Amino acid sequence: MTFQSKLRHFCALAALALPALLQCAWAAAAIAPPALRTMLLTPERVWTGEGEAHKGWAVLVADGRIQAAGPAAQLSVPADAERIALPGKTLIPGLIDLHSHVLLHPYNETSWDDQVMKESVEYRTILATRHAAATLQAGFTTLRDLGSEGALYADVAVKKAIEDGVIPGPRLYVATLALAASHSYGPAARSFRPDMELPQGAQEVTGVDAVIKAVREQSSHGADWIKVYADYRTGPDGSSNATFTQEELNALVQAAHTSGRRVAAHAGTDEGMRRATLAGVDTIEHGSGGTEATFRLMAERKVAFLPTLTASEAMSEYFQKHVRGAAPTPAMQAAARAFQLARRAGVVIGNGSDVGVFAHGTNARELEWLVRLGMTPVEALRAATTVAAAILGKDGELGAIRPGMPADLVALEGDPTADIAAVRRPVLVMKGGVLYRRP
Ligand SMILES: [Zn+2]
Repeated sequence: MTFQSKLRHFCALAALALPALLQCAWAAAAIAPPALRTMLLTPERVWTGEGEAHKGWAVLVADGRIQAAGPAAQLSVPADAERIALPGKTLIPGLIDLHSHVLLHPYNETSWDDQVMKESVEYRTILATRHAAATLQAGFTTLRDLGSEGALYADVAVKKAIEDGVIPGPRLYVATLALAASHSYGPAARSFRPDMELPQGAQEVTGVDAVIKAVREQSSHGADWIKVYADYRTGPDGSSNATFTQEELNALVQAAHTSGRRVAAHAGTDEGMRRATLAGVDTIEHGSGGTEATFRLMAERKVAFLPTLTASEAMSEYFQKHVRGAAPTPAMQAAARAFQLARRAGVVIGNGSDVGVFAHGTNARELEWLVRLGMTPVEALRAATTVAAAILGKDGELGAIRPGMPADLVALEGDPTADIAAVRRPVLVMKGGVLYRRP
């Protein structure tokens, strides 16, 4: 339902009681849906989400959707259309980051433990509104937000505030609490006195029934995706190991899929990745310990991979004195190796950065990493548009410039199909036909 149709629905109900009718008028005035103007964008070139960029194309937007895209001279343009000239710019579909945490901020500002234990959910939600705004300004019009990390269901509230037009932000697909095997996630009990009750970064569950119940519970509260931590740092030396049993993972995926939800698995160990793949998850996040055999299995089972390369770099900067651009740390080398193995095995690779670990609004760093490690600029752009939309199950609805699709558009200074660094230079951002940034 759109905001307007929701409001109409509410007003129809409110008409049954006269005092409520006055409230309805107030609500309409308080959050007015933005006017959808007819606009003709004439950039230097248009990249639609596939193939080469088209020189001299224009894009016509009306009623929040793309009406037409093609050679400028061939478009029939209504007389009242606002014309926006974008010389030297490339118009591309709004970018998608498939692994974000709007409720986290960089760990060199505040450690993850301190964010979860010391920052209130209210404070974290206020920060998240700023994070959402920064993301949209950077040209990212859609996020799959993979877990509130202890901030309960605040992601559902942020999503609603964006959809209702209360705050600016990208389209959000949220995972709410995420599921972790009991006593496996953080904050780690071993770092505190044993009689302390610690808030947790995910919902802790053990056993098939409890897993199924938690999936249903998170779904009922608004989870679009189910996120599971298939491994974590449970070893005696803090090393990562698979956590859930195969039976628990199978039940989790079945319960999620039954309710029409896809599953994202955090997994950095080969065994965690293997179990998650066998269980039928839809995506694997991180994956730096994956072997060739496991990536082949992922390709076979059509499990997509989000390599979160920027998170490896950021963590190396924070905790291993890595200087950006210098020789990669062992963790960065492992992430790069996994990326190469996945590519060679033919695994679908999407753009997922783990932003939140590093600053919101700098999501473009991941696309630069994808190119640095071997993708062409067009492959990287597809990973953040058409391929990302398909991973979301939204191909044909998001991630391309095609008549009928929502007008989620970004104009970049320069040509990102030739030099990916252009993704750092958005000059115009439109979501659903509403301009949030313009030159
Ligand atoms: Zn993450």
